[in-house]
Amino acid sequence: MQAPERQPASPTFAQWDLSLAINVLSRFEDHWQRVQLEHKIESARRALERFPVDATQITRLHNGVMEIDRILDSIQGACNVIELTLGDSVRTDNEIRDWHSRQCKTYSQVIEGYMSAIERRLEHVPTIIREWYDSISALAPAPEPQEYYTTIADYYTTNQNKAFNALSQRAFIDPDLKALAHRLYENRLSKEEADFTSVHQEESQAYFRQLASCTSINRPSLFHIRDLEESRYASFTYSLTEALHVLRHSFSQCHPNCAFEIDRIVAQGRLRLVDGTDQPDLCLDTPFGSYVQLQFNSSLPSVVSLAHELGHAVHQHLHRNSYRASHPLNAVDSETWALDFETVLIDRLTIDHPDFSPVLNAYRESRRIEINHRHRMLHRFELALHNPSIQSPEDVNTLWLNVNRLFYGDSIKLEADFKHAWQEVHHLFTAPFYLMVYGIAKERADTNRPTQSINQRYPTKEH
Ligand SMILES: [Zn+2]
Repeated sequence: MQAPERQPASPTFAQWDLSLAINVLSRFEDHWQRVQLEHKIESARRALERFPVDATQITRLHNGVMEIDRILDSIQGACNVIELTLGDSVRTDNEIRDWHSRQCKTYSQVIEGYMSAIERRLEHVPTIIREWYDSISALAPAPEPQEYYTTIADYYTTNQNKAFNALSQRAFIDPDLKALAHRLYENRLSKEEADFTSVHQEESQAYFRQLASCTSINRPSLFHIRDLEESRYASFTYSLTEALHVLRHSFSQCHPNCAFEIDRIVAQGRLRLVDGTDQPDLCLDTPFGSYVQLQFNSSLPSVVSLAHELGHAVHQHLHRNSYRASHPLNAVDSETWALDFETVLIDRLTIDHPDFSPVLNAYRESRRIEINHRHRMLHRFELALHNPSIQSPEDVNTLWLNVNRLFYGDSIKLEADFKHAWQEVHHLFTAPFYLMVYGIAKERADTNRPTQSINQRYPTKEH
């Protein structure tokens, strides 16, 4: 990939500033820089042949291996940031990308050798390296069906029969639910943690019963209820400047480095606002900082989404600068932090605007039902797709209605075309068994409140 032209910093938040990413790639347009990295990988490989016995030497070797990882990760991050900004057109020149993927392949062989060397000497290696080994071991290679699942992703948002054909393949591809086992393993979860229990069902049904009672209609439609929900928060609006100000303030009360990082994200042009439904809110983690993309319309839900994505960004920043920097973050931990930062924001807004506390509390409750309860329901649906009794599109529609009925209860009328709504849940097609991550993370965020012990987890002085 050839580095594109530099762009000036963008105070309008229309686009990410690509300077940092371009700098990373420009460095590796230089032949000598590439040779140096290749040399580092080769040295690490050779060092493994005579694995040191002394803890200091082991630590030195470990730091060397981690440095290579950071460099390779930076190149990948730079490519991702540029491609997400400029689109696939920049893929035409693949020179750096090809070289990078060759180095990654060689490096993964080094890591494999390094892991087995550590395994043989586990009791001699320093604690930090043992912790790293444990966290990497939890990232078992994706099971074989994962590859087949990727073909299913192509059928997202097509017609009912195609969508059914795609989802019905799941039972054939993965009868033993290996994708589920993998997701549980890499996030260190038990199957039961994702259950949509009768307690969840009672709580969500009570929530909708209460909403329905606010209308003058007997059994209002789901469409009507969603409208009502939205109208309850409509009186609250915040400009982006106001939102950034309150986030900076509330996050820095958790940890002093948060304000510093939010300022850097803004100053370095790593926050961009997008419109159009095809661009999701996201936070892209790279070794040179996290990049946030967001649909923002000043509504309360979009202010909370900003808290969520900036929550990911500040958490990733703290993690990168902690002694656990090289330990991978798993999805459930990562989402737990982001969801807890949402609560930090809502708590702050409740103090700053006591008049709005009924609005804010209503939103708090709707978010809990949506992220925890609804995602557990979706997970139950996803799991049941693997049941051999699912043989036709009608079976899927019926399953969908039955599971949703447990979530919404009888006080809400589900519209006739709602039976096809499973086609719109893109995670079912693109990320097998990812939906449960949100339900578990929300419950953990509300129970454990990790931001309340953030200073113990990430002491200010550690580097
Ligand atoms: Zn998230």
